[in-house]
Amino acid sequence: MAIKKILQYPNPALKKITLPSKGVGVEERLVAKDLVETMYASPGVGLAAPQINELLRIMAVDVTPKNPGSGLIVLINPEITTHSGERIFREGCLSIPEYTADIRRFEKITVSGLTPNGERVTINSDGFEAIALQHEIDHLDGILFIDRIESIRSLFKRKIKDKKKKK
Ligand SMILES: [Zn+2]
Repeated sequence: MAIKKILQYPNPALKKITLPSKGVGVEERLVAKDLVETMYASPGVGLAAPQINELLRIMAVDVTPKNPGSGLIVLINPEITTHSGERIFREGCLSIPEYTADIRRFEKITVSGLTPNGERVTINSDGFEAIALQHEIDHLDGILFIDRIESIRSLFKRKIKDKKKKK
């Protein structure tokens, strides 16, 4: 296990479409572990394999810091099988740290995929967690939140943070 470097926009790996894994093997499990470890070491609530330069369909989400009790979700080959409603939410991304944007997403989704143990699971999610899942699944198709901006007016530059506090 290792904390990986998170690729920054416009690194071309962030635009790659990943192919589904045939199953859960040693490589998938290793990438899933690195993804989780890197996510917990970062200020984000989700991370996708292309962001750590692994072109596999694996993502992790844990919105517990913003939504206590949510817990960790790690999925291989995640797929949104049903969705309903819409909402607009201010999103950010560890690969585009200087900006946020108001993005339209589904309000409720059902996601199916494989766990790192190879079990097939179906997860019903809504609210902030559903948005995080949609954001991370987008990464697996080379889609960044800035690709979903409907108007330049919905893009915002973050206030400059004191970088000395970060390592
Ligand atoms: Zn992101």
